Amino acid sequence: MASKTKRRSAYEVALAQFDEAAQYLHLPDDVKEFLRTPKRELIVHFPVIMDDGRIRMFTGYRVHHSTIKGPTKGGIRYHPEVNLDEVRALAMWMTWKCALMNLPYGGAKGGVAVDPYTLSEGELRRLTRRYTAEISILLGPEKDIPAPDVGTNPQIMGWIMDTYSIHKGYAVPAVVTGKPISVGGSQGRIDATGLGVMYTTRETLRRKGIHMHEVTVAVQGFGNVGSIAAMAMHREGAKIVAVSDVKGGIYNPAGIDPFDLWRHVEQSGTVADYPLADPITNRDLLTMDVDVLVPAALEGVIDEELAPHVQARFIAEGANGPLTTEADKILLDKGVTIIPDILCNAGGVVVSYFEWVQDLQSFFWTEDEIRRQLKRIMLSNFEAVWDTSLEKRIDLRTAAYTLAISRVAEALEARGVYP
Ligand code: NAD
Repeated sequence: MASKTKRRSAYEVALAQFDEAAQYLHLPDDVKEFLRTPKRELIVHFPVIMDDGRIRMFTGYRVHHSTIKGPTKGGIRYHPEVNLDEVRALAMWMTWKCALMNLPYGGAKGGVAVDPYTLSEGELRRLTRRYTAEISILLGPEKDIPAPDVGTNPQIMGWIMDTYSIHKGYAVPAVVTGKPISVGGSQGRIDATGLGVMYTTRETLRRKGIHMHEVTVAVQGFGNVGSIAAMAMHREGAKIVAVSDVKGGIYNPAGIDPFDLWRHVEQSGTVADYPLADPITNRDLLTMDVDVLVPAALEGVIDEELAPHVQARFIAEGANGPLTTEADKILLDKGVTIIPDILCNAGGVVVSYFEWVQDLQSFFWTEDEIRRQLKRIMLSNFEAVWDTSLEKRIDLRTAAYTLAISRVAEALEARGVYP
């Protein structure tokens, strides 16, 4: 059997995306090298006392890609396959995402190699507290502000806030975002990423003369991002025909009601056994004949082998880095419009920024205000990306990167290099 070519790692994909966009900016090589290189990387091996009384060792990471534009911002992932390379890539993507949204942040990411769904609540809490203590030398409202990502949630953010605060001796809500409202979380944070996916998709379709209610949609991943994106698109009239999660997928050409599906998932823990649709595989979903495909699970799910079989005309990147560089090229050549992750899923970090601002001021906004500002920021930056793409005759990803990198390069020039 012919051996498959080695798949690029997430970090290699992130660097290739950077290099592609940097060409258009004519940046000097030394500046490019500076911007490509992560600022600091911390690896921690730490013990957790499990429910049976034994100690189990875990490995965690926190990477700061850039502090040029401000304190670092980026989620924390709990997943068995978390590794330094993946965290580096995700941290770099955060730098560009924050710059693209004009937020005063650099990029970071963290994670622990663990399957959180196999731990009891007590084990999860002890793991979170210990990991927070281990990386606390990096954290702080003026230094580095984590948020949820795959496998983490508001409760875990609450424990992070508490652990950091206990060591400080007073409550520090602004150290983490995506917290429960009762400890300084923001209205509208849970919905923010999925809503942003809907806004950017709706806007892309609109510019091609298509209405949301005319399209069929397949969504991979029914977690925070995928479920809300599906619900928001359904509300706009789109027909959600397929949904999947880690356990399998479902298909109904007549449409799936994502609100009903959510109630089912709350009971059964997966979309896979939803009775009002037929089972399909994740591969079936990704290659399905739909108008819009929303990969909202993990990175690298569409590679060069799968890309030629993708039939969707639009891809809205709910997940970070769902396409490999090779897949990206194949799909662009096929004429697929790809709404890039750093634009498409930026709603979460935008409302995280609102949460941080509210915590620092101890003054909280209404949900209407949050939604209004989120929409304003998403749409104005969407327009900047769209216009750059037309002006420079480049795809939306390269346009988004070009804008983001130029903003960070400009900040670097203003600050200079110490000493
Ligand atoms: P989540 O843990 O809430 O949900 C992940 C979903 O993906 C689950 O339904 C899970 O079953 C599914 N999944 C996991 N592995 C899969 C596989 N191999 N095949 C199919 N489905 C699989 O995570 P989330 O917060 O929704 O994040 C999803 C993606 O969106 C990630 O790439 C994350 O980095 C990105 N993202 C999240 C946010 C946020 O605010 N949560 C913001 C920006 C980007």
